[in-house]
Amino acid sequence: MASITVGNVEIIPVLDMVPPPRPPTAMFPDTSDADWAGHADALDNGQLQLYYGCWVVRSEGATILVDTGMGPGPHPDRGNVEGELFERLRDVLIPADRRNNTNVGPSDEVNIVVHTHLHGDHVGWNLRYSGGMPAPYFRRARYLVPRADWDHFTDPENLANAPHVERQVMPLRRLRKMDLVEGEHNITDEVKTLPTPGHTPGHQAILVTSQGEKAMIVGDVLHNKAQVAEADWCAGVDIDKDASRRSRNTLLDMAEQESYVVAAGHFTPGDHIGRVVRLEGRRYWQAIEI
Ligand SMILES: [Zn+2]
Repeated sequence: MASITVGNVEIIPVLDMVPPPRPPTAMFPDTSDADWAGHADALDNGQLQLYYGCWVVRSEGATILVDTGMGPGPHPDRGNVEGELFERLRDVLIPADRRNNTNVGPSDEVNIVVHTHLHGDHVGWNLRYSGGMPAPYFRRARYLVPRADWDHFTDPENLANAPHVERQVMPLRRLRKMDLVEGEHNITDEVKTLPTPGHTPGHQAILVTSQGEKAMIVGDVLHNKAQVAEADWCAGVDIDKDASRRSRNTLLDMAEQESYVVAAGHFTPGDHIGRVVRLEGRRYWQAIEI
């Protein structure tokens, strides 16, 4: 199993799905084709290819799932692609000698689900429906939801444009599976949330510190590795672009100065764990092979 170790903590990437590619200027409407000319390595044949990646973090005996992808689908607004997170978690979480036992599944293996934010590609495998009744995919887990995102997306005006929140998040409260978190919230002694607002009001990164080593899971503070050099570029979907820029600059400064391992779920698998390095006054993404 490909993973990276940070002190005593293990971080394992798990891909949910690959949506259709888009022109980079569609995703970043304030940029031009000329802006992207210097970032061909961040594109895929000139197109911007996002990945919907989640992370399993093992710390102090707890199994933490950071974000739950787009969900099973098929997703008509994403080329009818289907999510595969749950099946892939089986390979990650269940030892090989128990994997063929149909009574054993990822459902029981996750203790905590923590959301970086409440967009549809980050909450999709929260709940399954049977006869119209929701039940959590991860039946033993507490689901940690940033309070400022809960307040924002459950506001009736915003909820009208966020049906995934009604379907994949709000029932968690009725099922008593959800905890609202704010500020720096300790998940274990080694893993905590850090508010990084902008993309959404409650967006949070996940910080890992163990044995003097450090890692950060950045959520949608970074959508594409070009933003490591171009920290002021904002995705069109960033709700508060000034705050998004501030959060991005803060995290990149931390990553560079304190040598964090950085995990970016929207980057290309194989190139989605790295460090932020500076060469001739400019920041770059330096992938770590795992
Ligand atoms: Zn996202």
